[in-house]
Amino acid sequence: MAEMPEFESEMHRTAVAQLDQVAERLHLDHDTHIRLRYPRRALVVSIPVRMDSGHTEVFMGYRVHHNTALGPTKGGLRYDAEVSMGEVTALAMLMSWKCSLMGLPYGGAKGGVRCSPRNMSKRELESLTRRYTAEIILMIGPDLDIPAPDLGTDEQTMAWMMDTYSMTQGKSVPGVVTGKPILVGGSAGRREATGRGIVYVLYQAVHRLGQEIKGRKVVVQGFGNVGGVAARMLWRDGAVIQGVSDYKGGVWNSQGLDIRALEQHVKETASVVGFPGADPISNKDILEQPCDILLPAATGSQIREDNADRIQAQIVVEGANGPTTPEADVILHSRGILVVPDILANAGGVVVSYFEWVQGLQFFFWKESEITSRLQEIMARAFTRVWNISKKERVNLRTAALMEGIRRVADAHQVRGLYP
Ligand code: NAD
Repeated sequence: MAEMPEFESEMHRTAVAQLDQVAERLHLDHDTHIRLRYPRRALVVSIPVRMDSGHTEVFMGYRVHHNTALGPTKGGLRYDAEVSMGEVTALAMLMSWKCSLMGLPYGGAKGGVRCSPRNMSKRELESLTRRYTAEIILMIGPDLDIPAPDLGTDEQTMAWMMDTYSMTQGKSVPGVVTGKPILVGGSAGRREATGRGIVYVLYQAVHRLGQEIKGRKVVVQGFGNVGGVAARMLWRDGAVIQGVSDYKGGVWNSQGLDIRALEQHVKETASVVGFPGADPISNKDILEQPCDILLPAATGSQIREDNADRIQAQIVVEGANGPTTPEADVILHSRGILVVPDILANAGGVVVSYFEWVQGLQFFFWKESEITSRLQEIMARAFTRVWNISKKERVNLRTAALMEGIRRVADAHQVRGLYP
């Protein structure tokens, strides 16, 4: 099949290879299969920003809609030094399978700006966000494409995006983004949704193995929105969180870390590093410690061919997108390690984003308890579906999740036909 030099990157090659394998397994017809390999549209923009020093810097930004067969597109916005068109396109494709797997009426999208947000002031980030939003404005809208936070972006970023979009419309349009502050139309429980969703599917997995979460030894890489919330819930439920890391490094205590105290330390110092009563550990070593559950919740390609042999967890639950390379996936599977894949494990964020979007369109807001119980039900149902497919088809959970996600998108294409 044709090469796609526009999207050249390891992550995109992986995403397309996964699609190709699953398409074969599903016996997808060739015409549908090739349509799924390409993004529907992809935009590259340059974003000039006046920096605090007075000079102007130009950043590269991207927004990609992978597929619109099931509805408007949905996907996060990432600020990171590694962002590229290939990475964003691969992540948009994964979003298509994720939304489909969770039964949401969305196609997949993703956006990104190549920058180092930690080295930028709040004013610089606001300028960057507003100009990026203005540059991609034709690509977004409440019934077209709805961004959300991802790595390096947060509620504040979404508030700036919503405000910029609203200014061009002459009215407030809360439905253009999700993950906004509650004050301007955000949903109760959205900030915690991805972490909570991870914990819900993890409980399902632990239960299937005939175990309980209390006393399980857990290692978490990445202590941001996703890893932080999941760590706190697991700790509350009696798991022993032995190690936690962030971009600066990690901390370790085999008796377990006090997560509430660690949160306070992060609030004061902006990192887990230096947490009293714990030993320092590198991001590389933390992945390789013996534990029951490993939760990579930082960036992609952390478990690779060169370290997969040394992973000593019983369950790897993927909070981050694409933390395990395909080569490593094979090694983990052959070693009997259960991998709960990203498109299932971290789907809680997009599920509650969907709730936020629906609430925004209706101007009617639900209680947090309703949000969490609906989330729990959807996550548990999706896990059961994927688990059953994996048993029936004798495939690992990732292949099972992809089969379910890709099949629905392919079916939607078939029933809609080909324009013109
Ligand atoms: P975040 O910016 O809130 O936190 C990221 C954390 O990872 C921080 O603690 C950061 O210090 C750490 N980190 C960054 N680079 C690292 C590195 N190279 N090594 C170790 N730690 C590193 O981001 P987030 O929203 O928690 O997202 C984390 C991951 O989860 C991303 O892969 C993202 O795509 C994925 N994800 C997020 C959501 C969501 O709703 N936020 C939903 C689905 C998937």
